[in-house]
Order: sequence, then C-alpha cells, then structure tokens
Amino acid sequence: MRKKIVAGNWKMNKTFEEAEELLTALAENLDDNKMKCEVVVCPPSVYLELASDFADESALQVGGQNASNHESGAYTGEISASMLESMDVDYCIIGHSERRKYYGETDNLLAEKANALLDHDILPIFCCGEVIEEREKEIHFEVVKKQLTNGIFHLSEDEFQNVVIAYEPVWAIGTGLTASPDQAQEIHAFIRGLVADKYNNEIAENTSILYGGSCNAGNAKELFSQADVDGGLIGGASLKADEFLKIADSF
Ligand code: PEP
Repeated sequence: MRKKIVAGNWKMNKTFEEAEELLTALAENLDDNKMKCEVVVCPPSVYLELASDFADESALQVGGQNASNHESGAYTGEISASMLESMDVDYCIIGHSERRKYYGETDNLLAEKANALLDHDILPIFCCGEVIEEREKEIHFEVVKKQLTNGIFHLSEDEFQNVVIAYEPVWAIGTGLTASPDQAQEIHAFIRGLVADKYNNEIAENTSILYGGSCNAGNAKELFSQADVDGGLIGGASLKADEFLKIADSF
C-alpha cells in the first residue's frame, strides 16, 4: 500500500546534545494514534544509534543520509548498509543533490547503493530532480527519467516495491523557492507514469513519491494535497521539532 511519509534530512547539523533535544521533543509529541504518516528522522550517522534508541520507544523511524556501495573493507570514512542494518535503520537517502554535486555521485553508483541497501532490508529513498538550467530549458522530465532509469529501474519488481522516490528540484533545495503544487503534481504524476511503464500500474500506485525543496509548515498542506504527492523530504524545516511535527500533520 502507498505510504504517506515525512522524512527529515538533518544534513550536517546538530551537536550530540542538540540531537538528543530534538529527538526527545519529536518522540514525546508523536502520538501513535493520531499520526497521519510515517515520520522518519535522518540524522548524521554518528547519531543513528541514539535515534534508534528513541525509535524503540516511540513511533519515530530512522533513516541514514548515505551508504556505501561496498559491503565492507578498506573504504575509510564510509558507512555500509550492513552497519546501518545493525543499528536498526529503516530507510536511507541516496542520490541527494548535495551528494551528487559535492561528491560526484552518479546514477550508476547510486544503482549499486540501492542494491546494497535492499540486500540489508533498508528502504532506499532515491532522490531525483533537475537543476534550474534544466527546468528553464524544459528538459526536467528527461533529466528525471534518466536518473530513475539509471539509478533504480534495474531493480526487480519485488525489490522496487521497497523503494521510495523523492522528487527534489535542486533549485528549490535550501533556497526558499518551492515548486508550486501544480509543478509538483505534474512531475510526480510523470514519475508515477514512468514506474507504471517500467513495472506495472499496481506497483506505480503503491510507490510513495515524496516532494522535497523548501517544504515547510506553511506550504506542506497544499503540496501534500496533490494526488501524486505522498509526503515530503524536509531539510531546514526538520531541524525544529514544532515545525517538523506541523509538517507531519499536514495531510
Ligand atoms: C533536502 O535537503 O532534501 C531539502 C529538501 O532541503 P530544504 O527543505 O532545506 O530545501
């Protein structure tokens, strides 16, 4: 079944104490019975164990921000999918535009990361989206199609059912510019159509497609009310408990 999800990407923010404070506020205020969606926190990896402890005692779920394509070995500084699994991590973001831009991550590498995560029962949140020049040239549909084709469309039907897609126009990330609800709906419907063409209608209907890019408590309701927007991947606005909880309540 298609899940509604709000995931917070903390990026490289928060000290240990601040992380504990935010997790405490989230865990205390999430009411299992009133939750309208899955609520996922993706803290820096050094806080994943802490986040998992909170998740054990609350409705929170935990995601990583990145994982290696390798299983284990001499890859200094990397974190493997098996390590994430051993810390009870549920989800992991891959292909965030910051990783693509600053660390040269390609769709072929992301395909390997998706495989590694699925091998360890972690649900990839696969990010895709165009830069401003591509939107201006009106090639954003092609760009997203290529990212999905090369990054995750090699997966089998069974594997694909454990993938979440996040459409994140790069021009909207951290900029205060948000895709309009119509723009978001248009490309989310396009993505769902691609999934239907590649797999089938049932899988497409069951795929969660999140929107990301300056989503906040003020605009989440309108974005999430679009037929093909199943929630959000939230950056800046996930760093404050009140705001993040309001976003999670916006369905
Ligand atoms: C993100 O980094 O995934 C993101 C959506 O950031 P922001 O909400 O700050 O634009």
